[in-house]
Amino acid sequence: MNKELLEMYKNLGITQKTAEFGEEIAAKLKERFAKIDEVAEYNQMKVLMALQKNQVSEACLHGTTGYGYNDLGREKLEAVYADIFHTEDALVRPQITCGTHALALALMSNLRPGQELLSPVGKPYDTLEEVIGIRPSKGSLAEYGITYAQVDLLPDGGFDWEGIRAAINERTHLVTIQRSKGYQTRHTLSVTEIGELVSFIKSVKPDVICMVDNCYGEFVETIEPTDVGADMVVGSLIKNPGGGLAPIGGYIAGKKECVENAAYRLTSPGLGKEVGASLGILGTFFQGLFLSPTVTASALKTAIFAANIYEQLGFSVLPNSTESRHDIIQAITFGKAEAVEGFCRGIQAAAPVDSYVTPIPWDMPGYDAPVIMAAGNFVSGSSIELSADGPIKPPYAVYFQGGLTWPHGKLGILKSLQSLVDIGVVLW
Ligand SMILES: *Cc1c(COP(=O)(O)O)cnc(C)c1O
Repeated sequence: MNKELLEMYKNLGITQKTAEFGEEIAAKLKERFAKIDEVAEYNQMKVLMALQKNQVSEACLHGTTGYGYNDLGREKLEAVYADIFHTEDALVRPQITCGTHALALALMSNLRPGQELLSPVGKPYDTLEEVIGIRPSKGSLAEYGITYAQVDLLPDGGFDWEGIRAAINERTHLVTIQRSKGYQTRHTLSVTEIGELVSFIKSVKPDVICMVDNCYGEFVETIEPTDVGADMVVGSLIKNPGGGLAPIGGYIAGKKECVENAAYRLTSPGLGKEVGASLGILGTFFQGLFLSPTVTASALKTAIFAANIYEQLGFSVLPNSTESRHDIIQAITFGKAEAVEGFCRGIQAAAPVDSYVTPIPWDMPGYDAPVIMAAGNFVSGSSIELSADGPIKPPYAVYFQGGLTWPHGKLGILKSLQSLVDIGVVLW
């Protein structure tokens, strides 16, 4: 390893042994990283062409105030998203406060009382339980008389085709498909798998709306769920498509009617997409989107690097060191609390912001065990930036994601490893 770089790592608290172990692992990943770069290259062109086709101009980077009528930048941005996802329309707004809000908006605006929502891929993301009313909550779909049905994945992770066919009835109006495993142990769905599922559902009931929760999946592959038949994709701008620059926001891209329904719900019946001042935020949305393919690639490399490091050291990792990736989340099971805490301290110590603080577990509302979180972010809570969290309960697993640049992601993982070496969890 280059001496200058070793010295730099040493100054950052990483011993020669840790640095060299990391180097050995990284060297074996060259071919895989080259494939990730190819996907990023393709997606970079896709984004660039959409920006050029829509003639995004300097004027588009400045926003409107007040009602936000005739917001040229906002309209172009939405056209750019529609082109990237190959959809009829899109809604991309800072007024959509987070991913959960975007998903709730898509659901509440496209379902009516008496209709049923179906998840054919098991339990949805935690926060959606309250949106749907699986856990009773004010304003849930359940309160509005919208029912929910769920078909779990089979024990081998496959779709329960017969179960799904049986669950679809005359009231089934919208099907929600979560692409990423989120914080569950199932595998993340590939876009191809999502395509098979959508085709099957449409063969049973052609007019049902297929929505995909696309969080953490954007730009991981060269195609998106809307390229394989999904009617609507939904996600957060403080994850992949914001490229680390968007300070807030969410998007819904899909069929004109679905997007229109969402717009009338977000603002007001009669107003829809016509209002919603973008203030001064559009520059970050455009530039973040432009950076997103390579930022997502960096996060993917960081996740694969971590899987290879920790698998080599004997820990159970999900996905494993070699399997194909369809989102940017990595889980590592340590089996003991001090290891989860040590890992998170290492990630925090590598951060560009708040690197000097020590994360400790706390009783977060809504969780049944203390949770430790590491996030030294430019954008609060952003999980496209290097971040980790773990509930302090068996099996003592940590989930991490992000990394705006590969060199920084690599440093973060090396810091986590060094932290585990220092407390004697990893013995050389
Ligand atoms: C992050 C995430 C959400 C919710 O997003 P928030 O921005 O945290 O509200 C929903 N679904 C999946 C799969 C996610 O990863």
